[in-house]
Amino acid sequence: MSTDDLFHAQRDHVFFTWSVQRDVAPLEIVEAEGARFRTRAHGWLFDLESQVYNVGCGHRHPHIQRRMIAQIEALAAAMPNAVLPIRAELGHLLARHTGLAKAFLATGGSEANENAVKMARLVTGRSKIITRRNSYHGATLGMLGIAGDDRKRPFAADLAPAIHVDDPYPVPPHAHDQPSAWVASLEAVLEREGPRTIAAVLLEGFTGTNGMQLPPADFWPRVRALCDEHGILLISDEVFSGFGRTGEWFAVDHWAVRPDMIVMGKGLTSGYAPLAGVMVSDAIADHFDEHKLWCGLTTYAHPVSCAAAVGAIEVLEREDLPGNAARVGAALAARLDALDHIPAIAGSIVDHRGLGLMRRVELDRPAAPLGHLALERGLYLPTKGNAFFVCPPLCLTLAEADAIADRLAESLTALVAR
Ligand code: PLP
Repeated sequence: MSTDDLFHAQRDHVFFTWSVQRDVAPLEIVEAEGARFRTRAHGWLFDLESQVYNVGCGHRHPHIQRRMIAQIEALAAAMPNAVLPIRAELGHLLARHTGLAKAFLATGGSEANENAVKMARLVTGRSKIITRRNSYHGATLGMLGIAGDDRKRPFAADLAPAIHVDDPYPVPPHAHDQPSAWVASLEAVLEREGPRTIAAVLLEGFTGTNGMQLPPADFWPRVRALCDEHGILLISDEVFSGFGRTGEWFAVDHWAVRPDMIVMGKGLTSGYAPLAGVMVSDAIADHFDEHKLWCGLTTYAHPVSCAAAVGAIEVLEREDLPGNAARVGAALAARLDALDHIPAIAGSIVDHRGLGLMRRVELDRPAAPLGHLALERGLYLPTKGNAFFVCPPLCLTLAEADAIADRLAESLTALVAR
């Protein structure tokens, strides 16, 4: 069957996400290995989106696959509250890497955030949740309601007004001994809403496709201090930025801040099976020793997904993939910075920023045409507006980072020459 026939056979009975169905032009993936996948139409492509920022450990990792197969053979299905060795093992690993106490295991990042919000409301007895103006925490109605991302637009009229603080980027100039402007924004929101009505401040550990916003140095420490002062819970949504993507296990580790909850997804299983979770502090865990936890769905803490997560975390540890993301990310960042020095491209790059292997480059023009040119040069390149993103699997080698930078330079040269 040709890719075209297959596409039509699938399109007749299966929807594509976030698309006008008639306009989609999806790729047929036939195999994948490490940092690349192969499509019938374009051959091998570097996966600069890691399958929606998911496949941290790389494609087709034998250790994760073996862990999953062993679990399928032992016990493939079990109710969420059944006691299983794989669940205990995962809980221990997550506690060790987050410094937090206990995991609530769900299926996807949006749902995990929903559960974090429910838990914050149950623990504090308050209802309001503060998020950033340009934030994304998932596509359930609850998360669309509290976040700022444009994906809420068709439903906005029926959603309760959200409570937003300003984005911490770009940072307006401020004297070094003065707090940065966003602190004033948070203080103003607390004052306006009444700090004792706020259950939680929910922030992405490091903002994803909404800007990879590098916050000022006082951002996380000041949020932590203000939350402590007013009995507000601090939740870091690390669905995108967790499990090594930024060069640390979790993005908040860059600022040495410990939130009350860490929300995780995507890289938790390296995308090999659906699993997400909320990791909570001792105090929150203790609360639910005495009070009912009003959360749960049928497939939560799925045993095969738990096995994928244990396998992925073991790979991250053994291969030091967070460290690799920091090292290879730094080399890649230097190459991306240098793009602007190439005479044929100079001036077309407006900005480049990021952490580890979570990087964003902004052009002076729409980036979608670059995506098409990159496909012809062996790169699968995600774009949004004028920006493109470079978020390959964390197993990327230095040689592969160089190859990606070379191909980006060729693609940009072709774009500017048009
Ligand atoms: N939170 C953040 C920061 C995300 O980037 C995403 C997805 O991109 C989500 C939550 C939602 O995760 P999911 O698509 O697994 O529901």
